[in-house]
Amino acid sequence: MSEERLDAIGHLYTQIVGLIGGDEAIEVAEALIQLKKASEEQISSKTGLRVGDVRKILFKLYEKALITYEELKKEEGDKIKSIFLWMPLIDQVEGIAANYRRMILQKLREKLAFVEANELYHCGKEGHKILVFDEAVENLFKCPVCGEPLFRMDKEEYLRKLNTLIKTIENEEKE
Ligand SMILES: [Zn+2]
Repeated sequence: MSEERLDAIGHLYTQIVGLIGGDEAIEVAEALIQLKKASEEQISSKTGLRVGDVRKILFKLYEKALITYEELKKEEGDKIKSIFLWMPLIDQVEGIAANYRRMILQKLREKLAFVEANELYHCGKEGHKILVFDEAVENLFKCPVCGEPLFRMDKEEYLRKLNTLIKTIENEEKE
């Protein structure tokens, strides 16, 4: 599988996650992709979301078969504690995508128009929130997740990714 296609599938995965769980779920999915396997606490510290919110999102994604988990038993004194490690199920995305294809394409085209029409601000760290100008002002040009300064995004790469993704999904429809 080509690098570009692999990248498109990873991106498609986060899009589907976003449709199901919203923007915060996208942050969780991107953290899972980077960490490959992670506990709720690890995802929480990576995304800046509260553990309780992370847990809610994980259950939602698990219900839709977008993630899976491994249970580890750990002895703590005379008690046995369970630790859940969550993993993304990116491979299944193409099957899932078929069901959501039209919705995803519509969302992606809206996103493309939105990105083209707005100046966007970002701290540069993957998975952190991308802000429009007004939001950046509200946050005093600091990332709401990590507090680092926000920079105006070079949109070219982002637009290229979105276009590749739209084409990938359109081509699958034709097959
Ligand atoms: Zn940040």
